[in-house]
Amino acid sequence: MSGTRRIHRAGILLLLCTLLLVTGCDRKTNGERQSFLSLGTVCAVTLPAGTSQSVYDEIKQEILRINDVFSRTAEGSELYALNRDKTIIASEEFYALVEKAVSMAKLSDGAFDPAIGGITALWNIATDHPRVPSQEEIDQVDRSWQEIVMDPAKRRITIPKNMDVDLGGIAKGYAADRAHEIMEKRGVVRGIINLGGNVYAIGSKENGDLWKIGLRDPNGEEGSVFIVVHLADRAVVTSGGYERFFVQDGKTYQHILDPKTGWPAESDLLSSSIIGTDSTVCDALSTAVYVLGSEKGLALINSLDGFDCVLMKTDGTILFSDNFPYTTNYLT
Ligand code: ADP
Ligand code: MG
Repeated sequence: MSGTRRIHRAGILLLLCTLLLVTGCDRKTNGERQSFLSLGTVCAVTLPAGTSQSVYDEIKQEILRINDVFSRTAEGSELYALNRDKTIIASEEFYALVEKAVSMAKLSDGAFDPAIGGITALWNIATDHPRVPSQEEIDQVDRSWQEIVMDPAKRRITIPKNMDVDLGGIAKGYAADRAHEIMEKRGVVRGIINLGGNVYAIGSKENGDLWKIGLRDPNGEEGSVFIVVHLADRAVVTSGGYERFFVQDGKTYQHILDPKTGWPAESDLLSSSIIGTDSTVCDALSTAVYVLGSEKGLALINSLDGFDCVLMKTDGTILFSDNFPYTTNYLT
């Protein structure tokens, strides 16, 4: 589309580096990193030097498998079948993630909305053909997540005729949890799983120090960081408008949508990072808080046990959840 520019988080340079350097020694973690593309992003797995190749392979296969189940666009995925047929008998795994997604919609008063699929499809922001839909098109799409009908006895999921489900706001978090599980099962006690900004820092560093996780500066270049959080055994999941967007006629449209309007969210936040042990929940919360904005977003995180956040506002202010338990240092 002329006049449209598309910038993807996995920029060309990063992509090239990743493809050329599929295996690399990571100086900061003293581990070995292997990267691949899946879930629409660069997935990087860093494990202690000397870890068996079969652990990397198992994690990679699992992430590719999750992509094949939960992709909205891949024909043959279970999600594709749900959106096509509007009613399916789901696998246990698929049923459970949809159920979790619906519970996150409830918790966030619909700011995280798995029924947003019809609207995501109109905008097409994550593809090579993004566009600004008309208000009529947006109005025709059903996005009332309350109308997703879950029947646990039959594991049947039913959605209205003009609704599509999108799990793009939660699937990467889920994949990171599964990768963590594989590491536990295989006895790998430390490492970093980074699925395009969905980070799980497992265990601590080899010398016992905490991991230092840098949060991406929304105003800076790819790879720049505005704060470093010290932690062990925590998922750190960030949502930001800078991750995927396109520009048309001088206006920027980003990929996190406000379910109330069907248009890109315009809150007072540039980014929201959620920290906790359940990376699936952190992922949904990061999207929800970004949509809700600083006031309601902070209130939501402060109401939950075991979850913390670092928010950057559009005016550059940095906000933390109450009693933020992690040491941080700023980079200027
Ligand atoms: P990222 O995918 O960049 O990590 P998010 O976790 O915030 O960012 O997920 C954004 C993706 O989730 C979008 O690309 C879209 O597929 C979907 N999405 C967009 N808006 C919402 C929303 N309000 N609730 C749930 N999912 C959303
Ligand atoms: Mg998310």
